[in-house]
Amino acid sequence: MAYIILDRQALVHNLQLIAQKAGGKERIAAVLKDNAYGHGLKIFGTLLKEWGITKAVVRTIAEAMAIQDIFEDIIVLADIPDRVYPFSFALNDLETLERFPPKSMIELKIDTGMHRNGIAMEQIEEAIGRIVEKGLRLRGAFTHFRSADVLGSELFWQERNWQEAKERIERACRSYNIARPRLHSQNSAALFRQGLKDDFARVGIAMYGYLEMDRVFEQPPLEPVLSLWAKRLSKRKLKKGERVGYGGVFEAAKDMVVSTYDAGYGDGIFRSQRYTKDKEILGRVSMDSIVVEGDEKEICVFDDAKELAHSLGTISYELLVKLNPSIARFVR
Ligand SMILES: *Cc1c(COP(=O)(O)O)cnc(C)c1O
Repeated sequence: MAYIILDRQALVHNLQLIAQKAGGKERIAAVLKDNAYGHGLKIFGTLLKEWGITKAVVRTIAEAMAIQDIFEDIIVLADIPDRVYPFSFALNDLETLERFPPKSMIELKIDTGMHRNGIAMEQIEEAIGRIVEKGLRLRGAFTHFRSADVLGSELFWQERNWQEAKERIERACRSYNIARPRLHSQNSAALFRQGLKDDFARVGIAMYGYLEMDRVFEQPPLEPVLSLWAKRLSKRKLKKGERVGYGGVFEAAKDMVVSTYDAGYGDGIFRSQRYTKDKEILGRVSMDSIVVEGDEKEICVFDDAKELAHSLGTISYELLVKLNPSIARFVR
């Protein structure tokens, strides 16, 4: 099978840039949803812990359980607990509050304009009242910005709503006599655009070495952490005029040596990918293999997810999360 290399030095470099921007490593919550954006949840989490990150954000309870020995503080974005866990859970909708067992920790999500998840601004007082009444613990409150990565006034408009939400949260907590929850709103793009505005930022893509922001913004010199490699399965001589792979869409224009490597769309690479890092892919991408000219033992399928993603009409996030979780991952 293909394999993945995680570059420890690149990761440390990115974390230093992020910590500088955030004002310390304790101000970073590492977003590890979807198998750490394809990097491998446990192996990537372990690298973060070694560097001093203590907070993680995941999508499901299963992901949180997989890293509970690595992080002391875990937020689950999109799951509802069936019992009390040592994680805190995003409350995405006021109606689901009834399903949380007493003593559960809540991370109250406020819809400040993205209209995807979270309670309405007008429900803040009611939500906090019900959290107190039900014996739940309000640990945090947060929002998510829809346009942190694009130039325009949208972010400022949504930030103003968040400002108002924070004031309402503080007032409601005072009136119910509970501690003010921790507050957070920014993703990678918002953090790099504005500097830290709340107690911490929820950073995903920047750790992995990318930002998908409009070019007008200053781009920090992040470095890609992940590269995908494939090993040679076989080698052959093609005569001029012979064709390669399904449909025979590549025809050799000369006699040439080609090799087949063990990475295909079953590993998560796109069928529309036309080039590896250094070579043209000859003919179609198969489920488990590709063919290129030459006979190297191993080839790099890609080491810059953003550049490749843009050539395929998508973004680094999509390319990375599609990498098959069963591919072996190594740190170098
Ligand atoms: C995915 C996600 C993030 C991280 O976003 P990046 O752009 O990868 O930094 C932060 N917050 C929430 C709620 C998310 O779903």
